[in-house]
Amino acid sequence: LVPRFANFRSTVFAEMTALANRTGALNLGQGFPDSDGPPELLAAAAEAVLAGHNQYPPLPGLPALRTAIAEQRLADYGTRYDPDTEILVTTGATEAIAAAIAALVPEGDEVLVFEPFYDSYGAAIALAGARRRTVALRPDGGRFTFDPDELAAAVTPRTRVLLVNTPHNPTGTVLSAAELATIAEVCLRHDLIAIADEVYEHLTFDGVRHVPLASLPGMAERTLTISSAGKTFNATGWKVGWVCGPERMVAAVRTVKQYLTFAGGTPFQHAVAAVLPRRHGWVETLRSTLSAARDALRDELTGAGWQCFSCQGTYFLQADARSVGYADGAELCRDLATEAGVVAIPSSAFYADPAAGRALVRFAFCKSPAVIATAAGRLARFA
Ligand code: PMP
Ligand code: GLN
Repeated sequence: LVPRFANFRSTVFAEMTALANRTGALNLGQGFPDSDGPPELLAAAAEAVLAGHNQYPPLPGLPALRTAIAEQRLADYGTRYDPDTEILVTTGATEAIAAAIAALVPEGDEVLVFEPFYDSYGAAIALAGARRRTVALRPDGGRFTFDPDELAAAVTPRTRVLLVNTPHNPTGTVLSAAELATIAEVCLRHDLIAIADEVYEHLTFDGVRHVPLASLPGMAERTLTISSAGKTFNATGWKVGWVCGPERMVAAVRTVKQYLTFAGGTPFQHAVAAVLPRRHGWVETLRSTLSAARDALRDELTGAGWQCFSCQGTYFLQADARSVGYADGAELCRDLATEAGVVAIPSSAFYADPAAGRALVRFAFCKSPAVIATAAGRLARFA
């Protein structure tokens, strides 16, 4: 293994799911729902398979899916994309992120990213031979946010890309209009490209609404926006994602993407194209189901003495290991698996400097009410 990948030997998600399978513990680790997406989505995929849609799709994705994505973004956010030139379907958001960084960041130049960050970002930056700089997200009244001065100070002459994730994994923060304006101002002042990972765009709670970074003044022409059907439709294994942005930037991503996977998931693309235009009822149900699960888990944990952080979106809730007597979240996660029968993720996996996230753990609450109730009860008794 080449040195640049020495720190990426195995993902924490695969490890913790294997631990859950080995111990029989309830898996609130890796973020995947334990129920399927809308029945019409599943039927559409099955029909597409049986109708013979089983060969390569066009490299940029099925035209019907690109049209559906353009219509969704216009309806939800008022942002306009030409489905022929400004939208590219990818093998999950993960491929979109890796291809975007490889396409846009010259070797040795910098990607600025908020920390904690989703683990594939670090690997994608390493794959591109780029350098990573981080800006801390820290709790402020229980909600994670950044210091605008630290953001401004982190930009150097080598910074090319600001990589933003909202709603944010693992903190559950949904960036506010003011925070997004601060980020946009930094991008405009330093002529940075923004890569906005918005895979949890629909998973927001309590009336909080997601605002795409690309919808801010001056940002459409410098922002690549990434999303994924996996999160919107409880289909994480389908790996249908997409990237939207200015033609020149999307063309650059397509150049790299074509040699990573070329294209894939034809029947799943058909199914997402059919159901994305009819997403509203499903999305509302998903939001209310997830916010009820969050409330149930958080309330029981808090009642038992766990300190939980605020969660405005995604399906992740973070807690402080110190509130149950552990300095180290990884050690807590090991004990939770064996003694409480619940698997969680040590949030240190989302930090370049694991010491910075040492005390935090993340629970995925995209699970049935029965699983959440059982897990919450076990965690409460453990406290
Ligand atoms: N970005 C974030 C923030 C995520 O949490 C995930 C979850 N897997 C991804 C990207 C990857 O999405 P996909 O499964 O579509 O590749
Ligand atoms: N995004 C998922 C999470 O944060 C994990 C996806 C994966 O296993 N790579 O839990």
